Amino acid sequence: MSNTNNPLLIPLKNLPTPKATAIDGQIVTRSFSGRFRNLRILGAGVLAVLFFGTSWINWNGHQAILWDLDTRQFHVFGPTFWPQDFMLLSLVMIIGAFLLFAVTMIAGRVWCGYTCPQSVWTWAFMWVENITEGDRNQRIKLNSAPASFSKIAKRGAKHSVWLAMSIATGIAFVGYFIPVRELTVNLLQFEWFSTSAIWVFIVAALTYLNAGWVREKVCLHMCPYARFQSVMFDRDTLVISYDAARGDTRGSRKKDEDPAELGLGDCIDCYMCVQVCPTGIDIRDGLQMDCIGCAACIDACDEVMDKMGYARGLVSYTSAAALADEPTRILRPRLVAYATAIIIMLGALWFALDARELVDMSVVKDRTVLYRKNSDGDIVNVYRLKITNKTQMPAHYELHIANDARLSLTRTFTLDLKPGEIVDMPMSVVMKGASAESGMTHFDFVLVDSNRITTREAANFIYPAF
Ligand code: SF4
Ligand code: SF4
Repeated sequence: MSNTNNPLLIPLKNLPTPKATAIDGQIVTRSFSGRFRNLRILGAGVLAVLFFGTSWINWNGHQAILWDLDTRQFHVFGPTFWPQDFMLLSLVMIIGAFLLFAVTMIAGRVWCGYTCPQSVWTWAFMWVENITEGDRNQRIKLNSAPASFSKIAKRGAKHSVWLAMSIATGIAFVGYFIPVRELTVNLLQFEWFSTSAIWVFIVAALTYLNAGWVREKVCLHMCPYARFQSVMFDRDTLVISYDAARGDTRGSRKKDEDPAELGLGDCIDCYMCVQVCPTGIDIRDGLQMDCIGCAACIDACDEVMDKMGYARGLVSYTSAAALADEPTRILRPRLVAYATAIIIMLGALWFALDARELVDMSVVKDRTVLYRKNSDGDIVNVYRLKITNKTQMPAHYELHIANDARLSLTRTFTLDLKPGEIVDMPMSVVMKGASAESGMTHFDFVLVDSNRITTREAANFIYPAF
């Protein structure tokens, strides 16, 4: 179909045809507006504020969220998680995966289109490109223009802002592993060769490359999620589709011409949906693996429909069932199974968090000397106790012996630990008097904190016959 009469097309003298979305291997998209774009800006804005802002929040005198690699402690506002708690992290990640499966089954690749960091950063970089170098046709012209002051200035402005955004991303990301205030001060004092600074530059370089240069190729060739997402789709999944029954036969026409008289459908073949697509595909060719579900083509086509005076929705969120004039089901057996699994795992997570101990105690019996006799003639066994205060508050503990009245500690034992402090110490347990028979008895070390919460650890006491 010819596009020469299309009133919506900007004359493309000396420019590639509207079909060409890739120039020198880079997709060159057109800017657009619309309700899904606004939704994405809102979602990305909230995520960006959370990502860049959360590490600067302090809680109880500490950074609110910090994965402290030195001490191997993960602070999340109040609670501190330790390597022993990593099962909980695994559970959170499995719940996240099931949520993603369920959302994909309902609404297709909304994660990719609206919240995936690769997409969000790519859209942000494209926005900067649009501000500094102009819209699609200006960028295509700039690309083929000879070197000039204006070209260098525009390119320089774009790359400067990209680099600033990349470094900000690197600082924000590494700031979740190294206290962000300390990290920022070190960078401002030109300490650029420390391990933390090198990680900032590595993350910044990856951001600059991924969002500035590689862009949609990450989605098309590197992201595993794109490979298996179709397994989660069914006839009722909402996907972005072109309504071929309404749109075909495609062709240009004047706004006041009746398409029915021309033997045409509602698609004016303007290629706007193709030119805004960040992966450079034509949605009118049907559902494709390359579609990241960003809905840019819906916004672009709705704008065209508005200008032509046609009803919106030639490209829309719909399901295969709806396109075949069948009802779209919300509740499906597999979705119910996902929801059930999520609810069960959330219950397990709640239970595990509630049962999580805030102090850790481990006991190892001294194996070099099973027992010894002290100067009073009592039997003594020696143990090594390792006690960890897993909270972010100072804690006071008392240690007792339980379950065998013959056993006692050599003295009343109290302990003050700083937040996250670990002590490793020997501990003697005494059995008063002699026993007619040798043997072994079981008892508990009992640690009581200032809130009278107890932690128990079982141990064995070995005694000879005297
Ligand atoms: S589907 Fe819409 S945006 Fe795409 S070519 Fe047809 S009229 Fe233009
Ligand atoms: S086809 Fe539409 S929804 Fe899919 S990636 Fe392209 S613009 Fe986004």
